[in-house]
Amino acid sequence: MPEIAGKVAAGEVIERPAAALKELIENSLDAGATRVETEIDGGGCDLLQVQDNGEGIVEQDLPAALMRHATSKIETEAEFSSINTFGFRGEALASLAAVSDFSLCSRTPDSTHGYMFSPSMQTPRPHPMACGTIITARTIFANFPARRRFLRTETTEAAHCTDAIIAAALSAPTVAFSYTVNKRKRLHYPPSDFSTRLVDVFPRVQDNTIPIEEVGEVLSLQGAVFAPRLGASGKSIGQFFYVNGRFVRDRLLRRAATEAFRGMAHDGEPGYVLFLQIPPQVVDVNAHPAKLEVRFIEPRAIFEFVRRSIGKCLSTPLGTPLGANNIPMHSPPIAAVTSPPSSQPYSPPISPPHSPPPSSTNVSSTDSFTPNIKASDNSLNSPAVNINQNNTSDAKASITSWQQMFGGIKKEDTTAAPSTALFGEEPLGRALGQLHDIYIIAENSDGLVVVDMHAAHERILYEELKTLFSESAPPMQPLLTVLHAPLSPLQAAALAEHGDELPGIRATLIDEYTAVVSEISSFIASRCNPSQLLVEMLDAVATATSNEQTTVLRDAALSSMACHAAVRANCRLSLTEMNALLRRMELTERSGACNHGRPCWQQIDRSYFDSIFRRGR
Ligand code: ADP
Ligand code: MG
Repeated sequence: MPEIAGKVAAGEVIERPAAALKELIENSLDAGATRVETEIDGGGCDLLQVQDNGEGIVEQDLPAALMRHATSKIETEAEFSSINTFGFRGEALASLAAVSDFSLCSRTPDSTHGYMFSPSMQTPRPHPMACGTIITARTIFANFPARRRFLRTETTEAAHCTDAIIAAALSAPTVAFSYTVNKRKRLHYPPSDFSTRLVDVFPRVQDNTIPIEEVGEVLSLQGAVFAPRLGASGKSIGQFFYVNGRFVRDRLLRRAATEAFRGMAHDGEPGYVLFLQIPPQVVDVNAHPAKLEVRFIEPRAIFEFVRRSIGKCLSTPLGTPLGANNIPMHSPPIAAVTSPPSSQPYSPPISPPHSPPPSSTNVSSTDSFTPNIKASDNSLNSPAVNINQNNTSDAKASITSWQQMFGGIKKEDTTAAPSTALFGEEPLGRALGQLHDIYIIAENSDGLVVVDMHAAHERILYEELKTLFSESAPPMQPLLTVLHAPLSPLQAAALAEHGDELPGIRATLIDEYTAVVSEISSFIASRCNPSQLLVEMLDAVATATSNEQTTVLRDAALSSMACHAAVRANCRLSLTEMNALLRRMELTERSGACNHGRPCWQQIDRSYFDSIFRRGR
């Protein structure tokens, strides 16, 4: 009877191989290991092994380590409220041993050899090995058909294991990690510091990294946030949130991060690796079987702190300094928890730091004068814009591609209406020309408007795609030539699981890691590379799948489609085309920032130029 209860409980802690892997790695870190070697076969179901060089377990304690509620980490009740180890319930090894063919080998530094123990043995048996611990679980869930049925494909389970390794590697940069899948070495992270580890894990993040560093007396938030999706075949970044070093999937923290990004990122979630430090007394880490959720004693204060800290770091490089006092601090009954950030000089943990867009750097660094540079997203949502929308209702007709957008317009430019007529009517003004074939320069009643063409067009397409695909199934176009797309394991897993839900593209796996694209939406057919688009969409979907809502998944896919199809920088436009783009922007929701969170446009007021040229002083 106790055995059955044990097996039932085991399913809660170990819902899939990756959950066991996470527990084993945490045990290694608790044991002070500086090297953790992991190996899986068959998505972790056939083999799961973790070897470390930690303090080990003495011979006589080996049987106890496999007993339920046997933990060496907590001795008194009082300690329970100030846990600083990952483990404390003594459940993981017992649970894993209950659902697998399990063995435990360990050697402490003062022993000349190690010992092996498994549930079928009476006493430990000598075993030659280096100092540390090796835990091996084979044929997980073999005798648990109900649990096995919940598992996804081997590729998906392996991808979850990879995520578990990455989550651990990001939180313990000084520890070396290796990861072998089906006998092939897949990951190797040498010991380093956080910023180096970040680049080791996500090699393409460098340009998109915005460091977060908000150290208060009681609370602190550190780490980095990224533009939501990385370029071309870049590896997607997920959401990594840690509370006191522990990886959590907490709705409150996620929401706080998403709110901080509102108006900057696309509707999906931004990517981040964030570490919240909080006094252990004000958080309950024992709220979830796998310790993935936490319960805060003062959730509101935590929420505000996280949102404010990210918001502050995000807004600074975009030319919209957001003072801490702009954000109301609600209800701090435990005053200590919401203590203001310390005034320590800011030192970014990541290098190179996020580089702000040129227009904002140049002007906001002028000490003597602070130009009136508006946050790009504010002005477009103002009522003035709505008036304009009514005037040009016919422009609302759906424009289906860049070519169609300008196809009917003569290239040659006639002089536009007198500028005074435009002032006050068109918020983004009248195009004057192009700068380096990247930016559109326009004039409005306030001064100068600078638009990033690609970012703006991408935002417009994204909103149009969302409307198009929410209303109907838009027409598809078969591809005449067979296009092969080589995929990464995560991309292949995303295609196998979500291929049917991908908007505007039909693709099938022809072998483990190769897809063939057969059809593409007519909307973008003329301006995309279908196999590259597929890869980008799968990256986006793989990131979005942690969120179960299908609209999130679809929007992530559409966002990558918009980026792919948008006009590239270094494309020369006529004034008519530029003006058409400005008018489309005015009609597009949330056109302040592109889908990656970079601003689409900036206003530079005339008063700024007046001050430079000392006019009217
Ligand atoms: P918990 O981590 O909650 O204490 P576990 O079931 O994960 O419970 O582990 C039980 C015990 O086994 C731990 O308390 C620890 O003493 C020991 N142990 C497990 N893994 C290791 C390891 N890799 N190195 C040293 N000791 C370990
Ligand atoms: Mg443990």
